[in-house]
Amino acid sequence: MSTQSIPVSRGDSLNKLASQQFDVLIIGGGVTGAGIALDAAARGLLVALVEMQDFAAGTSSRSTKLIHGGLRYLKNLEFGIVREVGLERNIVYNNAHHIVRSEKMLLPLVKGGSLGKYSSSLGLWMYDRLAGVKKHERRKMLSKEQTLEKEPLLDKADVVGGGEYVEYRSDDARLVIELIKSATTFGACSVNYCKFDSFLYDKESDKVCGGTIQDLINDEVIEVKAKTIVNAAGPWVDTLREEDGHIMSKKKLQLSKGVHLVVAHERLPLKQSIYFDVEADDRMVFAIPRGRSTYIGTTDTIFTDPSLADPSITDEDISYVLAAANAAFPTVNLTPADVESGWSGLRPLIFEPGKDSTEISRKDEIFVSSSGLISIAGGKLTGYRQMARRTVNQVSKQLGLNLRYCPTEHIQLSGGRFNSLEDVKLYINKQQGEASQVLIPELEMKRLVFTYGSNTEQIVNLCYQFYQEETDPILRLHKAEIEYLINHEHCITLSDVMIRRTGMLYFDVPRMNELLEPYASIMGNLLDWDEAEQYRQIASCLKNLDWVPSRKRKAAP
Ligand SMILES: Cc1cc2nc3c(=O)[nH]c(=O)nc-3n(C[C@H](O)[C@H](O)[C@H](O)COP(=O)(O)OP(=O)(O)OC[C@H]3O[C@@H](n4cnc5c(N)ncnc54)[C@H](O)[C@@H]3O)c2cc1C
Repeated sequence: MSTQSIPVSRGDSLNKLASQQFDVLIIGGGVTGAGIALDAAARGLLVALVEMQDFAAGTSSRSTKLIHGGLRYLKNLEFGIVREVGLERNIVYNNAHHIVRSEKMLLPLVKGGSLGKYSSSLGLWMYDRLAGVKKHERRKMLSKEQTLEKEPLLDKADVVGGGEYVEYRSDDARLVIELIKSATTFGACSVNYCKFDSFLYDKESDKVCGGTIQDLINDEVIEVKAKTIVNAAGPWVDTLREEDGHIMSKKKLQLSKGVHLVVAHERLPLKQSIYFDVEADDRMVFAIPRGRSTYIGTTDTIFTDPSLADPSITDEDISYVLAAANAAFPTVNLTPADVESGWSGLRPLIFEPGKDSTEISRKDEIFVSSSGLISIAGGKLTGYRQMARRTVNQVSKQLGLNLRYCPTEHIQLSGGRFNSLEDVKLYINKQQGEASQVLIPELEMKRLVFTYGSNTEQIVNLCYQFYQEETDPILRLHKAEIEYLINHEHCITLSDVMIRRTGMLYFDVPRMNELLEPYASIMGNLLDWDEAEQYRQIASCLKNLDWVPSRKRKAAP
């Protein structure tokens, strides 16, 4: 089964929110909420989802962006999680070939490091078996020479060998938006920039039966009726549980902050992804090449600051990540001036007394309040489908229905109408042929397909539609892409486009700088922004990089 994107009008969605009674109202449009929306809608339920920011603007655009089997959980002997997420990653891969790619990961073994040759070999062997890794992707142990050949930037004096295994890399925010679009094709009504404010209760049963929602764009309040409510608010799960007040479980969230930094690939020119030991504290950090950049992370620190939406990246975070990279790759000498971008996210973990954040399990848990509010917390991006399955089972139980069959294993996500990477490549060639008259450059076509998958043809169609009115092929493509993003992907601000739909603010700052004004102008035409609003949008987008050291220095008087 596959899903293609269909246009959504925000006005129509808001009208629906106000006028229908939903089987389930989901609070939170991160990967957890979006996965639940797809599962519930595909099982035939009437679904509404509200997100107070943009979709994925919480933790789900701020992860390491790996769909992985969680090798590190072996260290904590969490075999069940390794098995579940390992199997899940294959399903995510099969259903979204355009945004999930297999990626060889090198695990260097160093003198005095926390990873021994035999324990790593055994660990990777167990990982392959538990996670059901395909035969050709199973781990290979490497000699010192082989390891250094794979990555010459590693410390020649320190490396004693290595292991190579396969991870899957994705784009977390794109995964969320493809889930939201897929859910829409099954009739779900999802609206971003809509904040859930307060619960409504049935007078007789005292069970939740809806809530008031603030439409943050039009500054209006809407009452939504729903038979069940799911709280999938990530780091905000406890805020909503407390707002409901009918808490039954004493368990609470423990937030942990993780920071990633992005440098130009030419400043850290890795040949492949590396998962390496941090000498200072025995933690492990990823360095992952992606397009013109390499990103490095992550940190793992307990977080208690109430300003949840955008946890800051401090000088200390920057020093930690750069020191880790400089120790592993001693010739590169990265400095704060090399940092071009980055992000900081909060892991919504379930508190376990006496454990620090690196030891806390990443498993998910469902809490049901006496009011019937279903809260889901913890977990991983990779395991979103199983989290959704368990949550929708609970919803179905509360609705008194017997909807046990979960169909999502076989639903190709919006844009994911492919059976393999080979298929994606064939599609790129086919689209290149189809777009011959509208002159889309080859590199742009690749970028489009690895971003929008089989929905690329809708952008190509728009290019044909604009053929007469716009003769410059590049400007025409910009117009077509932005129109698609507004009409099919709920883009409302310039930051939605630059951060969560195209990833440009993270991975290609020079391209973003070039496109800020043209994109703001195109969006301005479509969304009725005057010049002042266009500049406000540009400033607000750039604000996301205020913490970058080289930008701070420029801004100083
Ligand atoms: C640094 C880091 C690295 C990670 N790396 C990986 C990885 O490589 N692979 C992996 O599998 N997992 C990884 N994870 C874990 C994964 O990112 C998270 O488990 C997942 O994104 C959580 O998704 P969520 O939907 O539960 O939360 P969120 O994405 O935060 O979504 C919750 C949403 O609820 C919204 N919300 C809150 N309150 C309201 C309200 N009142 N009304 C409306 N909306 C509301 C928020 O705005 C938010 O968008 C990582 C996490 C971090 C922090």
